[in-house]
Amino acid sequence: MKAMVLNSCQSIEQEPLKLTERKIPPLQHHQVLIEVNACGVCRTDLHTVEGEIIPPSLPIIPGHEVVGRIVKRGAKVHQKNIGDRVGVPWFYSSCGECSYCRQNRENLCSRARYTGFNVDGGYAEFMAAHEKSCYLLPDNYQDMEIAPLLCGGVVGYRAFRLSDIKPGQILGLYGFGSSAHIILQVAKFLQITTFVFTRSSPHRHQAELLGADWVGPPQQPPPELHHSAVVFTPAGESVPLALSNTRKGGIVSLGGIYMSDIPSFKYNLLWEERQVRSTANSTPQDVNDFLNFARTHKITSVVETFPLDSANQVLTKVKHSQLPAGAVLVMDD
Ligand SMILES: [Zn+2]
Ligand SMILES: [Zn+2]
Repeated sequence: MKAMVLNSCQSIEQEPLKLTERKIPPLQHHQVLIEVNACGVCRTDLHTVEGEIIPPSLPIIPGHEVVGRIVKRGAKVHQKNIGDRVGVPWFYSSCGECSYCRQNRENLCSRARYTGFNVDGGYAEFMAAHEKSCYLLPDNYQDMEIAPLLCGGVVGYRAFRLSDIKPGQILGLYGFGSSAHIILQVAKFLQITTFVFTRSSPHRHQAELLGADWVGPPQQPPPELHHSAVVFTPAGESVPLALSNTRKGGIVSLGGIYMSDIPSFKYNLLWEERQVRSTANSTPQDVNDFLNFARTHKITSVVETFPLDSANQVLTKVKHSQLPAGAVLVMDD
């Protein structure tokens, strides 16, 4: 099979992902073999490839918004069938035994493993995955439409829920990449007013098209303060900015796995019970809840598709925010 393999972490301009011919992975008893149709490209892949977060062992095949069909089952697979269309998200597995796992906070498990980071992911024609790491996908989406929902959507949904925003309130969204595209629509379905702050004028245009109630560049004051915010940009300076636009008692929820240093700010910004909280990955429950939401609320994925072997070029565009929307690698037929 063809795969884009990371042998050593380097700047994306060095094209560290190498198109490689690999053997189709053998299956363990609880694994299924997925013929990958599409794999979303997430900013976390860029952070992995460039070594801002370093995979515990190399080589690794990145990719954690994997969509495909099961073509083979291990001997002890009971819940998935050949022909099932499944997705594999970023959260792959956890230990199942620690205090976090026992409280359904698997995202905090120290032994959690992540797709395309601890185990080979979907920048390949085939992927082996534990049957419990695969989720049946709603039928009302094409492969390339559902791919960005598996990380951008799921992790964004967790960050959104951690913001504790309520129907009728105003939510600030900072940055307008793949996650924010999706969460804006979730918020609208739930009758939440949305203010979008983004530097990129194509992204501001996208936000308007998707129905944002107010759109502006980050430094522009919104028409009124928002109740809570979700920050999707990896720029640490967004945190004090979002706090300065947040009402008393509001939450600024950080949706990214990686963020540059947050500049120091006056206590006054946090005063009056404002909170800043980070979002660590997602739990299996988040995946199920979000896929159920997407089943009943059709979310428009704004995506551009690219061939598998262009992964380096696509990640370069992600790095420089040159994509107006999400990117998805699609495999040849
Ligand atoms: Zn655990
Ligand atoms: Zn991701």
